[in-house]
Parts: sequence; structure tokens; C-alpha cells
Amino acid sequence: MDKKFGFSIWYFIIAFWGIILLQEIYLASQHLDEVPYSQFKVWVLEDKVAEVAITDTLINGKLKPNVQEDGLKEKWFKTIRVDDPDLVRLLEEKNVEFSGVIVSTLWKDVASWVIPILIFGAIWFFILRKVGQGAGGSFMRIGQSKAKVYMEKDIPVGMKDVAGVDEAKDELLEVIEFLQTPEKFTRIGGRIPKGVLLVGPPGTGKTLLARAIAGEAAVPFFSISGSEFVEMFVGVGAARVRDLFEKAKGKAPCIIFIDELDALGKARGSGPMVHEEREQTLNQLLVEMDGFDPRVGVIILAATNRPEILDQALLRAGRFDRQVLVDRPDRSGRKAILEIHVKVVKLADDVTLEKIAAMTPGMVGADLANVINEGALLAVRRNRETVGQADLEEAVERVVAGLEKKSRVLNKEERTRVAHHEVGHALVAMMIPGSDPIQKISIIPRGIAALGYTMQLPTEDRYLLTESELESKIAILLGGRVAEELIFGEASTGASDDLQKATNIAKRMIKNYGMSEKLGTVALDPSGPSTFLTPNDHAPRDTYSEETAREIDQEVRRLIDSQQARVQSLLRQVKPVLIQGAEQLLADEVMSGESLQELLRLNEPPTITVST
Ligand code: ADP
Ligand code: MG
Ligand code: ZN
Repeated sequence: MDKKFGFSIWYFIIAFWGIILLQEIYLASQHLDEVPYSQFKVWVLEDKVAEVAITDTLINGKLKPNVQEDGLKEKWFKTIRVDDPDLVRLLEEKNVEFSGVIVSTLWKDVASWVIPILIFGAIWFFILRKVGQGAGGSFMRIGQSKAKVYMEKDIPVGMKDVAGVDEAKDELLEVIEFLQTPEKFTRIGGRIPKGVLLVGPPGTGKTLLARAIAGEAAVPFFSISGSEFVEMFVGVGAARVRDLFEKAKGKAPCIIFIDELDALGKARGSGPMVHEEREQTLNQLLVEMDGFDPRVGVIILAATNRPEILDQALLRAGRFDRQVLVDRPDRSGRKAILEIHVKVVKLADDVTLEKIAAMTPGMVGADLANVINEGALLAVRRNRETVGQADLEEAVERVVAGLEKKSRVLNKEERTRVAHHEVGHALVAMMIPGSDPIQKISIIPRGIAALGYTMQLPTEDRYLLTESELESKIAILLGGRVAEELIFGEASTGASDDLQKATNIAKRMIKNYGMSEKLGTVALDPSGPSTFLTPNDHAPRDTYSEETAREIDQEVRRLIDSQQARVQSLLRQVKPVLIQGAEQLLADEVMSGESLQELLRLNEPPTITVST
């Protein structure tokens, strides 16, 4: 509608000018012979002129029928009008029929004020349109949500297109089930999750998963990105949220998907500037989430790769109360993802995706899709009909080079070392009674800092830790480094973070908790109580003597040394398990605590003596 309107204004302006121009041209170009004004005046005086038509610039005249003048082909002539106040009187006197042709001047008068108005109007109109586009969409519809409504037939993505994130898939299948048969859940009074938050590193397939759920459940899918809500006009984002929920409720059962929730859900009042607009939008979202009944069958999905900056209010019960971790895929997961993406390319017979998967620890789905694409491009460049193993391997190198800054892909020796290190931590934890059970061991790199990790799951919340428990923590932290020394004969830089943590614990034990016999039950840390393991940065200067400081250092060293000796003896007893476990971890990249425990049991270690 606005486009047509824009055109018509221009047509109007052009037509206007056209008419005026034509009129001028017509009057000026009637191929009349031009005579000087003085000549014209003489003719009038001689009673030779029958009629004249006067415009503001010209006078057109017609001679009387019986008059014949040399040089005039016709009776009509024209002359340039001069400012002659006597002319009218003269014409009246001589009985010449005269008329002013005022049409032209009228048009000009009108044009002189209409055209500027039209031009300004047009400029204003285009500026508004630009502004409207900048804010996304037409100015007139600014409060409305731009959320695209995908109907089920528009989503060609299903769960079969997502791989390597099985745990997330399982959890989300429940959401699909709910959307398809809500009665099943509501009949027994179960509370359906209102909001499900997909959390994971970029490129792991969160957006893909959300679309797959909608595709699988065959329900309408309203998707919008968090950044789209945040507008330059205060109140617009809030209006959009309202509108989005309004629309969705009309289409239930359906899914609302808010991608990149962090753009919108950043903790309120954080950052250097309080962002009024975002805050209003977030508040509106909270209000809408509280205000609707999940039984109508609207599920809100959201995705973020920075859950830590989200406003706590968003994560409360009744809002995004369920969080689904979409983690980096392990080796078999990567193979499955590769299998999905190679469907669109022609593969040579020599391709073993297994090997590509083994080469790409730490890569996410988006990277793997990129590898296949790069491989296809390389094959084309080499004029091959199919994509070969060599192409794919080179593609991996290229993608790795591009990723280098974001995350690291380790070489084989490094990975072997990391595997032994992590298994070392885990074995120590398993052999020390009373420590938290090992959940998962992984050598899938996460970012630059962590090359692998061992996940311990506390069985209960702890507020108090005993001396021996703290010592066990130190022992587990040392387990990685000791394992490296045991297998490779020397330690590596990979243990620096562990050492830092272990030393911190030891220092606190001595300075804060009075757990040193030598120094006695004295609190030596002037910073007073601070949370466990998080040293207080603004601590006042130490108040003890240099002598005491030296003793503290000695005690810390003694504590760590004794734990190191303990860990060395523990790991020496289970060296075969350490090697075997690391081999398995190297192959699978992740390992459950149970399977390592199983290895430990099978090896029947000699009775472990625990000395504390
Ligand atoms: P995120 O939203 O987590 O940043 P996307 O869903 O946008 O990641 O993923 C980008 C692309 O990477 C997808 O379109 C898909 O081609 C590919 N991809 C990512 N993860 C997977 C996966 N688990 N399985 C298959 N393809 C994936
Ligand atoms: Mg995404
Ligand atoms: Zn470690």
C-alpha cells in the first residue's frame, strides 16, 4: 500500500509540472509571427486589431478581417508584453475585444505553494519509511511483532536432522509428547513446563533443535530473536512481546521460540547503562510468562549460550524452569552429525567419517557442517566428481585454523596426556573414601582454558567440611599431575590450575581454619570470613610477622607434599587401570564414572591403605 502511494505522489507532481509546461509551450509556440510591441500599439491605434488575449508575458492579437499586413501569414500575431498601464484604456477606446488569459498565472500561483508542500511531503514520507525500516518493518506497524509464523508444513526439520546431542533430544521429546497429547499430562495433574531453556556453546544446534521440535510436533512455531525485541523506542519491545503472546495463544498448541535470549534477558540494572527499553521488554516477558496457563498448550523455548548473564527472574519456577544442556558432541556424536551433513554431497568410496570424527574433538555441529562444505569446495576446485577423504582431511585443517582462536584442537600426544591426567583425578577420587562420586570424565576441550574435565557430583549440599575432606580435595586435585608424572616421567603445564586450587585450599586450612598443629588453632587471615575457595581481593594487609609468614609457607608445602605422597602411592597401585582407563577415554572422549569404577573393580587392586 505505501509503495503505490509513494509512486502516485511522484506521478502527481510530474503531471502538475507537465500541465504547466505544456500550457506555456502551447501559448509560446503557436507559430505566430512576432511583432514588436510598438508595431502592435500602432495597429491598435490604426483600428486594425480585432481582439487580443493577454497573458502575463505575451499578448496574442488578431487583426480585423479586412486588414492585410505585409509579413504576416495569418491574422494572428504575438508580441512580448511590456508594462504599459495605458493599454487597457487604449483597447477600450478602440473597441478591441480583449481578455486576459489568467489560467496560466492561476496555475503558477497554485503551483508556487502546492509544489513545495508536495516536495516536503514526499521527503517526510520517505524519511518515515526509512525510520520504519531501520526499526524493522513499517513505521505504522511498529508495535506489532515481527515473529514469523511458521506453520507445520514450513518446517522441513525433524529430530532426524539433529545428532550428537542425545540427552537434550530425549528431554525435548517429552515436550513434543506434551504438545501432541496434552491430556495425558494434565489428567493426572502434572505440571507442564512453561519454559524450556536450551543452553550450550554456539553452533551446537540449539536453534536447529527448537525448529526440529516444532517440525516434529507439527505445531505452529513462532520464532523471534531476543535482539529483535530491543528497539530504539521505549515501549516498542514490550508491545511486541504482548503481541507475540497474543498471537500464540490464538494458535495453541504451539511453540514460541526466543533465540539468543541473553540479548533481552540480561540481568536488569547490569552494565554501565541502565537500558530502559530492554528492561521494559524483559518485564513484559516475565508478566506474560506468569500470566498464561500452560494448559492452553503454548510452550516457550529459548536458547542462549550465556546462561550466566541471564536475569535470575527468568530462571525461576514457572518461567524457564527447565534447562536443557546442548553440549559439544563426543566422537560418536560427531560421526552422526557428519553423516547427516554428507547426505547433500557425493562421497568417494575411500571416505571414512569415523576418522574425520576422530580428528575433530571439540568441534560443534556448525563446525562439522562447515568441514563438509569446505571439503566439497576443495573437491570442486580440484575438478573431482566426488569428495574424497583427502579433501575432507584438508577441510578439517582449514576449519581448525579458523577456529584456533576460539577453541583448541589438541594433537595426539597432548590428548594422550590429558586423558591420563583426567583419569588420574578420577581414580584418586574413587579410591579415597567419602569423596563425591565421579559423574563424567571428558577430554572434549571446552574453550581455551579447559582441555578436559572430570565432573564430580556432590551427593548433598555441604556447608561444613572436615579437615580430612579438605585434604581429600587437595589429593584429588593433585591426582592429574601425579598421573602425568607416573606415566610420562614428568608433569606438564596442564596442571597449573589444579595446583592453584590445591594451594588455595591448603592456605585456607592453615590461615583460616587453624588446621595446622605447628601454627596452632589461630586464624591468621585478617580478611575474615570469605567464601570457601574464593579469596577476598580487598583483604587488608597481613598482620602476622614475617616469621609466621615463613611458617605458613612451610606448612602449606608440608601439607601439599604429604598429599602428593599419598596420591603417588595410590596411583602406583592402580597403574594398569590408569593406562587402561586413559586408553578407553582417548577412544571415546567421554567416559562415565561407572565404567571407570568397573575397570577398577576388574583389576582387583590390592587392599588400599588410606593414610590421612
Ligand atoms: P546454535 O543455535 O546452537 O548456535 P545452530 O542450531 O544455529 O547452532 O547450528 C548451526 C548449524 O550447524 C545448523 O543449521 C546445522 O546445520 C549445524 N548443526 C549444529 N548442530 C548440529 C547437530 N547437533 N546436528 C546436526 N547439525 C548440526
Ligand atoms: Mg542459534
Ligand atoms: Zn586437572
